[in-house]
Amino acid sequence: MFQRFSFHIRRLQPSAQKAALATATAATCYYSLSRHVEPHHTLFCDSNETTTTTLLNWSGTHAVTTSHYWEPETVEQVEAIVQHCQRHRQTLRPLGSALSPNAIGFASEGMLQMAGLDRIIRVEGQQVTVQAGARVSQVIEALREHQLTLPNLASIAEQQMGGLIQVGAHGTGRTLAPLDAYVTQLKLVTPAHPRAVTITREDPLFHLCTVGLGCLGVVVEITMQCVPAHELVEHTFVVSRKEAIERVQEWLQEHKHMRYMWIPYTDSVVVVTNNPREKWSDGSVPTPTVFSREEQFRPLLDLLHELDPDVDAIGMGFGELRDALLAFDPLNLEHVQRCNRAEAEFWKRSQGYRIRPSDEVLQFDCGGQQWVWEVCFPTGTQEATNGNDMAYMQKLLQGIEETHQIPAHAPIEQRWSASSPSKMSPAHGDANGLHSWVGIIAYLPSEDERQRRQITDMFTGIYCDWMRQVGQPFHATSHWAKLERPASMNRLIDLQLFLQQRFPLHEFNALRAKLDPHNILANPLLNLILGDPRNLD
Ligand SMILES: Cc1cc2nc3c(=O)[nH]c(=O)nc-3n(C[C@H](O)[C@H](O)[C@H](O)COP(=O)(O)OP(=O)(O)OC[C@H]3O[C@@H](n4cnc5c(N)ncnc54)[C@H](O)[C@@H]3O)c2cc1C
Repeated sequence: MFQRFSFHIRRLQPSAQKAALATATAATCYYSLSRHVEPHHTLFCDSNETTTTTLLNWSGTHAVTTSHYWEPETVEQVEAIVQHCQRHRQTLRPLGSALSPNAIGFASEGMLQMAGLDRIIRVEGQQVTVQAGARVSQVIEALREHQLTLPNLASIAEQQMGGLIQVGAHGTGRTLAPLDAYVTQLKLVTPAHPRAVTITREDPLFHLCTVGLGCLGVVVEITMQCVPAHELVEHTFVVSRKEAIERVQEWLQEHKHMRYMWIPYTDSVVVVTNNPREKWSDGSVPTPTVFSREEQFRPLLDLLHELDPDVDAIGMGFGELRDALLAFDPLNLEHVQRCNRAEAEFWKRSQGYRIRPSDEVLQFDCGGQQWVWEVCFPTGTQEATNGNDMAYMQKLLQGIEETHQIPAHAPIEQRWSASSPSKMSPAHGDANGLHSWVGIIAYLPSEDERQRRQITDMFTGIYCDWMRQVGQPFHATSHWAKLERPASMNRLIDLQLFLQQRFPLHEFNALRAKLDPHNILANPLLNLILGDPRNLD
């Protein structure tokens, strides 16, 4: 009657190996696969033995150990587990691929791993319906045979579809909203309902549930609008800061996708644009550029050999080389400046064109283990930026390079998106709104604990403090997957007040209270910054 219910993640995401895990002691919990067993039989644990599962997020910045870890494979199992946890007031945090830099999906009190629900259910017209544990890469692959693809992508495709939308993940493009905006229907398992409920765009709750931060229920099924598969012509070029600032409006209008990579302490801004092949209607599509790897990597390799003549750099990719360089002295201002100059040279030698399917070019190398923080702020309309995007960057860089002399690793990435109708999206706003997303980074280039701690202190201290200060007049809010726990009571209060004014928290928390009356789905971070819905006045 009972089938052994494994407490291991059976299928670690192939390209997200960094989300490592270890499981201690033999699993002793059993899960009934039958929906018809008596409720108290749905989960059975031998309380004499404890099984613990330890997870590490992709960035290598957060770990969690839990003795309550579920891996369902069917919607019925999700329903049974949610009901069991609801009865026992047991925390059950929905978890995707654990890619979120702040580990927003972690809860040591209990987690529900969705990787086992990864079926592509159907493709109908231009819409795809998938189980929420399907990874973005799987969905793209399945769409290929239908000559379809997703409307936009984040820089990595190993997220689960549930994780992608629940935090409001985005790509870049003036007219392209974050991915949650393309959801047309959701199926949600909530503690308040014994069976999954379907929520469509017509439902008044829909725009709260699309970016629900895992607090409103377990998303088990998602229907998303797709677009015809297309090739993009990617153009990478390097300009001065002056030109990047002066031409941003022109380039935003001209290019379907555009991102800037600002390289601190250099006058180089790497611009990457992507446009459909059809843009060149006269047939004069640019010729792809063939790079000599030797030529391209020379500035990085020269610096590395200068620092250590005996180093073996054979086979190292760009991200590994940058890590190897920074590792010599990642907080030394002069050293970081040298690394950044070498990186700028690398990009100058990488200028040119390539033509590939959209799902290949819209992903890019994000580097190794790292601290990141990304904020989003409104910057005018889709027709015209109001200049906030460039004003923000100028202020940020001035503080980094002049006032605080922060050893800022490269790049500082800037992207744009249209508004999202999801009420909890950082890019929520008028239908015609334009938003800019800016992300800072500090790599953790070695396993040296002392060095990692020092980088962490610098990043979460002076660097994030400055970013926070710059963002205030722009009403910049954090990407939900990159918002770390405030370091002091004062910061916490500031953040709570800001979030209350920036988001409809009252409405969101009221819905949490309705769908999850015992608040089993949230984790301590969210209860801290959003409040505990059981305490609503
Ligand atoms: C290298 C790298 C590059 C990235 N690039 C981008 C980028 O370009 N743009 C961007 O916006 N973000 C980016 N991110 C952040 C990342 O896209 C998000 O954190 C991501 O969407 C998380 O997906 P996940 O499956 O790993 O979810 P997790 O991190 O496991 O969980 C994220 C949240 O979703 C909830 N959740 C997950 N599944 C479900 C479900 N089925 N039902 C209910 N709630 C659920 C969790 O409770 C949690 O709140 C990047 C992250 C990394 C590591």
